[in-house]
Amino acid sequence: MPRDFLKDAQDHYDVVVIGSGLAGLTSANVLARAGYSVLLLEHHYQLGGMATWFKRKGGHIFDISLHGFPIGMKKSCRKYWTPEIAERIVQLDGIRFENPQFSLETTFDRDSFTNILVEQFGISLEVVSEFFDTARGMNFFDDQEMTTGELFERFFPGRDDVVRLLMEPITYANGSTLEDPALTYGIVFSNFMSKGVFTFEGGTDALVGAMKDEMVSNGVDVRIRCLVESIEVTPDRKVAAVVVNGRRITCGAVVSNANIKQTVFELVGEDSFDPEFVEDARAVRLNNSSCQVYIAMKPGASFEPCGDLLFHSEHHGFDIDAMLSREISSRTFSFYYPRTRPGSDRHLVVSSTNANFSDWADLSEADYEESKKDLCETTLDCLEQYVPELREIVEHVEASTPRTFQHYTRHLQGASFGTKFEGLKVSQKLPEQVQGLFHAGSVGIIMSGWLGAVNYGVIVANEVDKLMTPPASASA
Ligand SMILES: Cc1cc2nc3c(=O)[nH]c(=O)nc-3n(C[C@H](O)[C@H](O)[C@H](O)COP(=O)(O)OP(=O)(O)OC[C@H]3O[C@@H](n4cnc5c(N)ncnc54)[C@H](O)[C@@H]3O)c2cc1C
Repeated sequence: MPRDFLKDAQDHYDVVVIGSGLAGLTSANVLARAGYSVLLLEHHYQLGGMATWFKRKGGHIFDISLHGFPIGMKKSCRKYWTPEIAERIVQLDGIRFENPQFSLETTFDRDSFTNILVEQFGISLEVVSEFFDTARGMNFFDDQEMTTGELFERFFPGRDDVVRLLMEPITYANGSTLEDPALTYGIVFSNFMSKGVFTFEGGTDALVGAMKDEMVSNGVDVRIRCLVESIEVTPDRKVAAVVVNGRRITCGAVVSNANIKQTVFELVGEDSFDPEFVEDARAVRLNNSSCQVYIAMKPGASFEPCGDLLFHSEHHGFDIDAMLSREISSRTFSFYYPRTRPGSDRHLVVSSTNANFSDWADLSEADYEESKKDLCETTLDCLEQYVPELREIVEHVEASTPRTFQHYTRHLQGASFGTKFEGLKVSQKLPEQVQGLFHAGSVGIIMSGWLGAVNYGVIVANEVDKLMTPPASASA
């Protein structure tokens, strides 16, 4: 008999959350704390979505998306999770850039960037200050016409070295390009610039484990290996139930943490929406995907500190096509020292590159395996510039591709950072189309990344709460 992963689940919950990415986890926790009965359904055998890790023989643990996030994560975790989780968020201060145009190290905050732009790049302090103030002042209600490229051209005309410094890390963090609305850049860049880059001490497994404990103590019914096949909507467009592992469970509301396009077209079906909404949803562009190479050193083997995050490129200027190409010329190395996981004796490196799903999707199995091998080898060659003794101390190397991300998270085309800007509007308008149907997850660039996902989870939980709580006048 196959194991029943829904054993003892109820037939009805106030809220069903589909997916355990950081947005889904946070929505579930906030709603359970508010007193609702919550069922969290995750198709994978592990919680966390993209915020994930894996273990390999010899005791190696690799983090997938723990490269860095803004300080805001500390406040959000303290408020919507626990003080203990917030306390383990610590700063990474060794951010490096190595490329044909410059070589520098920064703490990745406003003071450090101001110094670099003035002293090293020769930009006047007045222009730098005005640029930072403009970026900081941007918000969702601003002009959405100006592109990030136009913003840079306004402040730093013809300076592709400055554009590279300001843009490359953000492109790695959320896939955005010079053609995306400037406000998406302004919001994300300013979040980082406020205090620099932070990480979670103990690793993603410790974070997600602590989140699970907190959810369970608040009463969330957490189920893994539970694939939601559909969301049932009544003819008068109200959420009625979900079908999961072949079982129907009714509910008052659904928060879908699955990709917004999958939520609309696969889980619900377009017949339940207005035609204009369907058109908008169809037009939403997915963000790009990623490749990674995971490199573990032998137990106890170490290398000289190389910084925490290193943006390496052999390319001249900021070039999005080069960054996405299978002919890799740019890589972000995340260096993990024993301090990342106190008590461990391991040095690990994760190399990340942005990637197009289409470059990997149609390879034959043989070509796919060969390409992954090549990816591993060329990455080791590149990393040897920074860790000369690398090949003597390496114990384990493997690669992931857009196909891997699609497989584990079910994101169409392995999209690493959700959708482009237009996805946010579709996500926000979902409850106006179907009563009780909500989406919380990476959309619109600004609601992506660890901080964006957590914060969007909170925003959506509050919307669910508003729907479920009858107005005071109704109960009087
Ligand atoms: C390689 C890489 C590096 C990254 N690095 C960083 C970084 O350094 N800093 C940062 O801030 N962000 C980073 N990110 C982005 C960040 O990890 C994500 O934006 C964030 O974790 C996404 O959270 P989410 O809530 O949108 O959901 P996701 O993580 O996308 O999770 C969605 C969940 O829903 C589940 N699901 C989908 N459909 C179903 C279904 N039908 N039934 C049941 N379950 C379902 C999936 O299995 C998944 O668990 C990185 C991402 C990648 C891929």
